Amino acid sequence: MAISPQLELLAPLAGVLLALDDVPDPVFSSRLMGDGVCIDPTSQVLCAPLAGVVSNRQHTGHALSITHDTGVQVLLHIGLDTVNLGGAGFSALVVEGQRVEAGQPLIEFDADYLALNARSLLTLMLVISGDGFVALDADQGVVESGQPLLLVRPRELDVKPEVQGGEALHSAAQLLANPNGLHARPAGVLAQAAKSFDSVIYLHRQHETANAKSLVAIMALQTKYGDSVHLSAAGHDAQAAITALSHVLASGCGESVTSATLAPQPEPLVQQPVSDVLRGVCASAGAAFGHVVQVAACTLEVVENATDAPHERACLQDALAQADSQLQTLRDNASNTAQGDIFKAHQALLQDPSLLEHADELIDAGKSAGHAWRSATETTSTLFKSLGGQLLAERALDLDDVGQRVLKLILGVHDNTQVLPQHAILIAEQLTPSQTAALDTRKVVGFATVGGGATSHVAILARALGLPALCGVAPQVLTLANGTPVLLNADAGELHLQPDDALVERLEVQRVQLQQRRQHDVQHASLAACTRDGHTIEITANIASQAEAEQAMTLGAQGVGLLRSEFLYLERNSAPTHEEQVATYRAIADAVGPEHNLVVRTLDVGGDKPLTYVPMAHETNPFLGMRGIRLCLERPELLRDQLRAILASADLARLHIMLPMVTHVSELHEARRVLQDEAQRAGLVQLPKLGIMIEVPAAALMADVFAPHVDFFSIGTNDLTQYTLAMDRDHPRLASQADSLHPAVLRLIAHTVKAAHAHGKWVGVCGALASEPQAVPVLLGLGVDELSVSVPLIPTIKAQVRELDFNACTTLAEQVLGFESAQQVRAVLQPQSLVLEN
Ligand code: PEP
Ligand code: MG
Repeated sequence: MAISPQLELLAPLAGVLLALDDVPDPVFSSRLMGDGVCIDPTSQVLCAPLAGVVSNRQHTGHALSITHDTGVQVLLHIGLDTVNLGGAGFSALVVEGQRVEAGQPLIEFDADYLALNARSLLTLMLVISGDGFVALDADQGVVESGQPLLLVRPRELDVKPEVQGGEALHSAAQLLANPNGLHARPAGVLAQAAKSFDSVIYLHRQHETANAKSLVAIMALQTKYGDSVHLSAAGHDAQAAITALSHVLASGCGESVTSATLAPQPEPLVQQPVSDVLRGVCASAGAAFGHVVQVAACTLEVVENATDAPHERACLQDALAQADSQLQTLRDNASNTAQGDIFKAHQALLQDPSLLEHADELIDAGKSAGHAWRSATETTSTLFKSLGGQLLAERALDLDDVGQRVLKLILGVHDNTQVLPQHAILIAEQLTPSQTAALDTRKVVGFATVGGGATSHVAILARALGLPALCGVAPQVLTLANGTPVLLNADAGELHLQPDDALVERLEVQRVQLQQRRQHDVQHASLAACTRDGHTIEITANIASQAEAEQAMTLGAQGVGLLRSEFLYLERNSAPTHEEQVATYRAIADAVGPEHNLVVRTLDVGGDKPLTYVPMAHETNPFLGMRGIRLCLERPELLRDQLRAILASADLARLHIMLPMVTHVSELHEARRVLQDEAQRAGLVQLPKLGIMIEVPAAALMADVFAPHVDFFSIGTNDLTQYTLAMDRDHPRLASQADSLHPAVLRLIAHTVKAAHAHGKWVGVCGALASEPQAVPVLLGLGVDELSVSVPLIPTIKAQVRELDFNACTTLAEQVLGFESAQQVRAVLQPQSLVLEN
C-alpha cells in the first residue's frame, strides 16, 4: 500500500458550517453513511472537494461521489429529501467516470427552487472511505467555497475478492418498493447492514452487480421503483446474511414503503440450479461444439523489498517500454478500429501519471519494481471493481491486463503457452483482452466466462475474431473437467453440458454453410448490387472511424452512407481542436476516395450517447430531449466548429452533410444558414450536399414538405422505430416488439420514398434494418435507393441483392404494407421466395 499523505478536502460550497449532529436527519447525523460536515449553502454551484473520478452521479442530479486515486471516497449530497425532486432544480456539469480537479464545478442548483420544494438545503460532504478524519476548522462558522476544511488519510481497501467457485447462495428476486430506488439513504442502510456479516455479499439487478457493503456501488446501480433485484452471498454466515438483508430490502431500507402490490415477501433461499444447460449472456454470436479447456489465472510471485531504487526504477521503465511496443504491434495487427482502440487505451494506461507516481513512491520506500507496479495497479483496480458500474468494471479489467503484462516483463516470465487440443472451448473466470487477442483460432472454437459483459472489450475482440462467446455464466462452469464435451450456443445464451448428437450435427452443418457462404460473398464483394432483373442499388457503409472506412472499402462499399461523427470523440474529456477534427475527417475522406459519397452526420449527442466534453443537464426522458440537431442549434458553436472542420477536409463534390433528429423544417433552414455562413467564411463557392435523417415520425410524415429543401434523405430506422412504436430502443423487455419491420414503420418509409422521388431526391436507409438480410427485399421493393450497412455485412447484403428479383420485391412491399403486425411481415420473408428461378 502506498504511504500516502493526508488529503485535504476543500469546502464544496460557500455557506454556514454545521456539525453533523445538528442535521435533522438520523441517517446523516448518526454517521451511518460516514463522517463529514454539513453546509447550509449561500452559493449555488457544488464544487469538487478533492481531485478524483466521479464514481457515481445519481440520475436525479442531487448527489454525487468522488473517488481519489488513493481510495478516499467522498459523497456530496445537496439538500434533504431532494431525491424526490426527480432532477428538477439541478444541472449536472460532469458525467460519471469523468476525472475532475479539486475545485471543479460539479452540479449547479437553483437554491430558490430547492428552498421552496425540498425539505432543506443543508448539503452534506461525507467521507465514506477514509481514515484519520480531522476537521481543520472545528468552529461552526462561515466557509468559502474551496476553503480547506478536513484532512483524511486513505484507508487500506477493505474490499474482499469476488466469490470463487459455485458456493454462493442466492435470494429470491424482490421488487424494490422504494419510490426513488436505492438512493443514498436506503443504500447507506443496506450497506451498513451488509457490513455486519463476514460473507461476501452482492446485490444484483439483471446482469449488473454491486458490492452490497459499498454505499457507492449500490448507488451506482441507479435502481428504480419496481426494479427486480436479488442478493447473493458466500461465506460461513451467507444464509443469515441473505435472510436478514432480504428483510432489510423488503422493509424499504429505512424508508417507509407503502405500496401493497410491490411489498416484497422474502421467499425461501434458492440454490443455483444444477442443470445440463448453463445460461449466460451472448458476447459474440455463433455456436460451436468442442471440449472444455479450463484456463487458470496465473499467479506471479514477486519479491517485496529491494535495495537499489535506481535499478528498480530502470527495470520498471524498461518493462513499460517493452509493453508499449507489444501493444503497438497488437494495434498494428488489429483487424478493426474497435480492436485497435482497446490496445491504444492500454498504452495510455502505461503513461497514467497516478499509477506511475504510486509505483515511484513505493520504489522510493524500498520496494521492488514488481511489487510497486503490482501494488499500484491492483489498488486502483480493486477500488474500481468495488464501485460497481459497467464503465469502472471495464477499466478495472484493462488495468489488471496491463498490470499483468508489465509484471511479466519485469519478472522475465514468458506466457505459458498451454498446449490446446483441437476444438477447444475455453472456460475461465475472466479472460483479459490480451489473452483474447492472442487466442489461436485454429484450435479455439469459442469460450465462456463467469465475468465480463456483452459490451466488454473481450466481447468486442471475440466478435472481431469470429469466435462465439458467452459471459456471465454461473461459477459452476469452473468445475467442469477438462475434456468435457460441450456445445456452446452463444446465440441462445446457452452452454449445453450433455449435448445430444442431433443438435451438435445441426449446428455444425449450419456453421460450415455460413462460413462457405461468407467466403463466397467476400470474394465477390466488388460486384455491383444489381438485382437479376437489372435494378441497381448502392450499398454503402455505416462507420465510426477511419479504420472502419478503410475496411469498408476493401469489402466492396460504394461509399459511406453514415459517418457517426460523435463516435470519433467519445473517449475524450475535452473538445477536439480544429486541427484534430480536420485531420480526422481528411483521413476518412482519403480512405473513401474521390469516386464515392461520404455522408457525414453532424454530432448526434444526447439520448443514449453522452459526450463527456458536452456536459448536459439531467433529463427525465433523454430520448425525447436535447438530442441531435436540437442540441447543436442550442449550442451553435458546436455545429459551427464541426462544419468548419468538415468543409476544410473533404472533396466538396462527394461530401454530404446530414442532420440528425430533425423534426421541424425550421431546424433544417437554421442549420443551412450556419452551413452557408461557414462556407462563405471559408471562401467556398460550392456548398456540399445537405440532407436530413428521417428518424422522427414528424419528419417522415412531412417528407413532402422537407423534400424541396434537401438533397437527400436517409432513414434512421432505429430511432424511427422507437418513436413510432413508443418503445425505448434499448428496453430489454420490449426488444422483440420494437421491430423495424412493423407495418407502421414501413408505411413511413414508403411515404418518405414517394415524397423524395416526386422531388427528384434520393433516399437511403442507414438504420440497422438495412443490415438485416430478411428486410432487404422489402426495402428494395419500397424503392429505397441506398442501403448503408454495418461494415462486415457489406458483402452479404450485396450478394443478397444480386439474387433478388426487383419486380417480386415491389409486389412483396405492397403486400406487407397492408399487414397487421411485424410477425406477419416476417412470416412472408422466406429467404428463397424472391429469388428468380433459372
Ligand atoms: C438510426 O436511428 O437508425 C440511426 C442510424 O442513428 P443512430 O443509431 O446513430 O441513432
Ligand atoms: Mg438515430
